[in-house]
Order: sequence, then C-alpha cells, then structure tokens
Amino acid sequence: MQTIQDKLTELTPEELISLTSGADFWKSVAIPEKQIPSFRMSDGPNGLRYQASEGDALGINKSAISTCFPTASAVACTWDPDLVSEMGQAIGLEARSLNVDMVLGPGINIKRNPLCGRNFEYFSEDPYLAGMIGAAWIKSLQSKGAAACLKHFAGNNQENDRLLSDSLIDPTALHEMYLEAFRIAVQTAQPEGIMCSYNKINGTYSSDNDYLLTEMLRNQWGFKGAVITDWGALNNKVASINAGTDLEMPTSRGMFDPEAVKALKDGHLKRSAVNRAAGNVIRIAETKRPAFKGDRTTLLKDNGELAQRIEENAAVLLKNDDQILPISTSEKILVVGQMAVDTRYQGAGSSHINPPSHTSILQGLDKAKIAYDYQQGYGFSNSNTGALTEAAIAAAKNAKTVVFVAGLPESDESEGFDRQNMNLPANQNALIERLAAVNPNLIVLLVAGAPTELPWLSKVKGLINLYLGGQFVGDAAARILAGAVNPSGKLAESYPISYQDVASADIYDRNPRSVGYAESVYVGYRYYEKADQPVAFPFGYGQSYTTFQLSDPSLSGTEIQTGQSIEVTVTVANTGDRDGAEVVQVYVGNSPKRALKPLKELKGFQKVFLKAGERKRVTISLSDHAFSEWNDASQSWQLPAAEKFVIVGTSSAQTLPPLSVKANGQSVPSDKNLPSWYVKPTGKPNLADFSKMSGLTVQPFVTTQPGQYTRLNTPRELGAHSIIVRKIANIVKKNMTKDIPDPNSPEAKFMETIVMDTPLIRLAQQSAGKLSLALVDKLVAVANRHYVKAAFGR
Ligand code: BGC
Repeated sequence: MQTIQDKLTELTPEELISLTSGADFWKSVAIPEKQIPSFRMSDGPNGLRYQASEGDALGINKSAISTCFPTASAVACTWDPDLVSEMGQAIGLEARSLNVDMVLGPGINIKRNPLCGRNFEYFSEDPYLAGMIGAAWIKSLQSKGAAACLKHFAGNNQENDRLLSDSLIDPTALHEMYLEAFRIAVQTAQPEGIMCSYNKINGTYSSDNDYLLTEMLRNQWGFKGAVITDWGALNNKVASINAGTDLEMPTSRGMFDPEAVKALKDGHLKRSAVNRAAGNVIRIAETKRPAFKGDRTTLLKDNGELAQRIEENAAVLLKNDDQILPISTSEKILVVGQMAVDTRYQGAGSSHINPPSHTSILQGLDKAKIAYDYQQGYGFSNSNTGALTEAAIAAAKNAKTVVFVAGLPESDESEGFDRQNMNLPANQNALIERLAAVNPNLIVLLVAGAPTELPWLSKVKGLINLYLGGQFVGDAAARILAGAVNPSGKLAESYPISYQDVASADIYDRNPRSVGYAESVYVGYRYYEKADQPVAFPFGYGQSYTTFQLSDPSLSGTEIQTGQSIEVTVTVANTGDRDGAEVVQVYVGNSPKRALKPLKELKGFQKVFLKAGERKRVTISLSDHAFSEWNDASQSWQLPAAEKFVIVGTSSAQTLPPLSVKANGQSVPSDKNLPSWYVKPTGKPNLADFSKMSGLTVQPFVTTQPGQYTRLNTPRELGAHSIIVRKIANIVKKNMTKDIPDPNSPEAKFMETIVMDTPLIRLAQQSAGKLSLALVDKLVAVANRHYVKAAFGR
C-alpha cells in the first residue's frame, strides 16, 4: 500500500498546493486520480451544524436537524468531564450519521471580558477548567471516529474587528492564560485539527504565526494534526504554510495557488512545509471512520435526553434565601416574562443548531405538570407597555410565588460583534424591582450566555442561572424548580457586580485594532481576589438543595520537585437531607507579594455525588506542572523555587485554610522592575504600565486616508472616501440580507459586519470568484484617488 510519503513524492507542485486549500465551503480537495479522497467538516460545538448545500458561517442557511446541547458556558458549569464525554460521543455519532469527518469545535478561548459576543461558545475564564472540559469533549468525540478541530487558536477574545485586531499579550499571560487551555487540550486529547484564529498576536496573524503554530503547538506540545484556518483567516499563503498552517478554509478557488507554486519552485516556500501541510490534509482524509449503523431517530431522541441531563447538571443555583427553592408544587405559581415563552436556548452565528424540537420554560412546566398562571410582563422590544406591566404587578400581588424569566434578547449575543454593555434590558430590570416590591417570594430564572449585572439581586429570594441551556432547557428548568433535580452546577466564570469592576473594562474594545491585554494574568477571579474587588458570585460558586462540608485536608508531601506530584485528600460530606453533588476544587496559590502571580489558580477538581448523609474521602493529584510557571528566558514551564499553597474549596472564595508547599525548582526571575500594579492590582491597569511591563505598545487608532488604502482595508473604511465602494457594499449587503426578515436580528447584524468589516482581500478569497483580486485593486485605487491606476491597472 502507498504511504502518504509515497503519495507526496508523486504529486506535482500544483497538486500539492491545491491540497492546502478547501474544495468548497466545507470540504477539502480530493485528487481521485492519485487516490486522495477529501474530508468533510461541519460546525459545532454545541451540536452539529451540517449544511448539505450552500455553506455560510452564520447559521442562516438551513442545516440538518441535530441535537442542540447547552452552549459551552453552560456545559462548563457541570464541572463534569464524564458528562461532557457523553456529549462528545453523542455529537461524534451525529457527525458520523451524516458522514461528517471533522467537527469544528470545541472553542476554548478564555473569557477575558464578559462583553465578548461569543462568550456563550466558550467554557471559562480559567484555562485549567477550559482545557480539561475541552479535552474530555475532544477525546470522546474522536472515540466515535469523528475528528475534532479545536478553536480559535489563539488570543481571540473579542468579536469586534476580529479579522484585523492585534492581541498584544505579555509572555506570562500568553502562556499561563491564553495558550494554557490549548496546551492542556492538545496534550491530553490530541485533536486531529486545530483552527487558527482571525486576529494577530503580538503583530503576527495567527495563520502566519510560526511561534504559535510550530514552536509551541508542534515542537513543544507534540501536536500531530492539521492546522486549519478559521473561515477566511488566511493572511498570506506562502508565509502561512511556512509558519505551520496546513489548510486554508473555505476555498479561495485557487486564488493564491500560482503565487504559492512559484514560491515552492523558487524556494521561498519550503518543500518540507508543503509536504507537512499536504500530508496532514491527506492523513485526515484517508483516515477510515466508522459508518453510523444505528437509527438516526433513536440517536436524536437519546441525545435530546442527554442534552436535558447536561442542562440539569449545569444550571447554577445562585441564590436561595429562606429555601424558597424548590418550590412547592401544590400551589400555583405566577410566571412572568416573554422569555418564559420565547425561551432562548442557544446563541447566534456559526454554532446555530436546528434541533428536532425544543421546550420553552412554560412548555417545561406543562410537561412537569406544574400549575401556573402566566403574565408576559415585558417584551423583548425593551418597551414595557403599561398594560403588560400593570397586569403582571396585579397578578403578583395575589400570587404565592413569582418566577420571573429574565434574559438577554437574541440580538445582544452573537458571533461577529460584542455586547455593548453588561445590562439586562432596562424594562426587565424595572419590572423585577416592581414585582419585588409587591411580592417577597420572587425567583428569577436567568437566560443568557454570559454574565449580566443584577441590580435587583438583594431584592429577590431565588436565582437560577440557566445560561443558554440547549433544546430542552424548559424541561430542565421545570425539574430544578420543582426539586426533581437537585442543582449541582458551579460557575465557570466570576459574576462581577458591575461592568466597571472588570479589570479590562476601560480598555476592552476601545481600540479594537490594537488590543493591549494590560491586565495580563489578572483575568476573572485572578483579578477580583488580588484586587480585593467584591463580586456578585465568585468563580466556582453554586448552591444545592442540600448542604456540603469539606474537612480534614491533607497532602502526601509538603515539598515538590520536578517530575513529582502531590496528592491532595479531603473529606466531603453531604450534611443535608437530599442526595446531591458537590465540586471539590483545588487551587494552587502564591505569596501575595509576587508580581504577575494570582493569589490562587485552579489546578484540580472533582465532582462528587453523595447521598444524603454520605461522606467520602476524595483524592486529587497535582503534578509538578500545577506548581510550575512560564519562564520566558528558557521558553519553558519551570518549577520555581518558591513558597506555594494548596487551597481546597467549593468555590474560589469558599475555601479551607491554605496548606503550604515548598516548590524546589529553579530560582524565580526577579520582578523588581515591574510597575506596582502587576504586584498588587488595585483599580484598573493602564497602557503605559503595560508597555513598561511587556515591551508591547498599543498603536493609536488611525483613520485611513486616500493614498494609504491597501487590500487589507475594509469596505467600511474605503467607503469613507469612496462613493463607489459605499454603493457596491450597500448592494452586496442588501443582497446578502434579503432572506433575513428581521433587520435587528443577530444574523442581520452579523451579516452587516461581514460585508462591511472584512478586509477586501478576505472578501475576495471567500467570494467564490465574484470579487476578483483585480477588482479589489481597482476599488483600492479608486479610494486612493489613483484613477489612472484604477482604469489601466498601473
Ligand atoms: C467561525 C468559526 C466557524 C467557521 C465556519 C467562522 O466565522 O469563527 O468558529 O467554525 O466560521 O463556520
């Protein structure tokens, strides 16, 4: 049998290069005469978005029916890799049932800031949790024969201007925060693919980033799969292959092939790099994947049940004063809110799933036979009609218990653009305040993919965070409300009190093109704790209908050397009268005096199911890596010579006293010259300190002027000085949104940013030949007022 190596030697330069670009929107190139098949990709990650015909990255064109699981921000709250593995297997089977070879997921970018429009698609603010949940997803999906494509590598933590933004990240934060989840997922689960992101990192586009794609990913972490560009993320064909990119997606119809073939012939494009790229593509395409032999209807039914079970284990009970929950089902409850009827269960964009069915909160209550009255109270349009409000208030006066279903409207959370603030719609906040004034027994169910400010928190008795809970969120919510399920979800991100409490609040999105990650490693709880910044709910937090207690923590040793590990053992007891689950969380801490070192960082966890009254000894192992730090001089993780702490808890804020551990590694580089904010982050970081600390400088935003335009500028930019571009862009926009009925829908907004904010060269790449490079150059010349060049091409 011919090996891949044999095949590579038989391919012409043209054939080799053709393999490094897609055949269409979802498939790789096949070369039948050389016995090279193609492979098929489909979006994930909270289900399968399989588009049989014309592809788009928006979820607009209909996709095949698939199970819609809770989105990643909910899934992570299960803190249960075993349950996540069931989800991975389920999606793997659905993929194989549609002959999909590779699923584009999971997304494990760090939630740097709550306003990132795509946070619902990501797991956590913590790299260990994100990495471990991601690894479980990948391993289990791949165990069913489908390949995973981990995304978006790396530093893609905002949606605004994601195609042009430059994420400026200092080495410690880069490795300890933004690459760490990827390292864990790659080394634990070996995904067959990884998707490089749109943005630049420290000045270099991800697709051209040799440091990330080759030095780290392949050389240090031992990645064996293919690097695939995000859809339209290729910057420079030749540079990208040399740097480590294997496959450009979607197809650019050979737009860059002549240039690459020439570079291959004249040596600018390394033959070894092309062989690597084409070889990796062939390997995925040739991998024999099991055919699905079962019955798809049964599969979808089983997976629907699993989706519900995941949500039941993910929903986080955030507040339960006077044990108002679970509710007594013997008396009718009053349910208020449009979200109870039009319950959101997923986010918008490329992860948008077309499920076989779904239940709203009210349908869930019906199915669970829970008696209720319903008042709409508010509408998503953000205007409270007086009549709706007053009817809800009147009904609340006579109700025993009021369940208010609150949440973000669909248009607030989407791939492609960021949220503008952390608020719930004002009409919802106002109505909650008024209801609380007339009825003390108020419970809020929160439906949103990311944190919102909760200004009425002290006035409500109960709060359950459902996140975006998948197709059967309504059933899960009803069962939790009534106590058929005991909630066990724990937050995978901190809930700040107000947006202004977020470390990056003043810098995020201010200049989306040049983004200084000035807060460095102080993201989420790493910031709030060291800055003494109170939060609404800490990372790892979640209540239960029973109570738990941790006691008797012990360590197998109090010193750690390179190559060793320490076992942490603790007793966890269910001290209440219901069966339930608690998550034992193990953090490794640092002395508060250390610069760029948080007070504690998650390094181990275990979800423990306990019957009422039961207790267990739980052991969690910490390898030397848990105590190690990124050492930029040696370009490696090293165990320092430093005092460390092991801290066991049930959230980052509810912990037992720290246990001291001496790390006996190489000495720690001195941090004497760092600005004091990086030792004690009080208040917000500033860009001048950031530059001093990192050597990275945020570039001021400049408006491009005629004479300065290039193929990398966007229609919005060119349009500022060119009527022609404005006109063409408007026609394209109209044409592309003609099938979207609601101009305020996230799809319409996302489409607008795709047309207006994508660099011209990328639009050309993805235009299926409609926009040629020659036309791009003409448009650029016109905007530059080089009319002769526009007319004659020179
Ligand atoms: C998204 C990816 C997605 C791809 C294909 C891109 O816009 O960033 O996550 O997999 O489209 O739909």
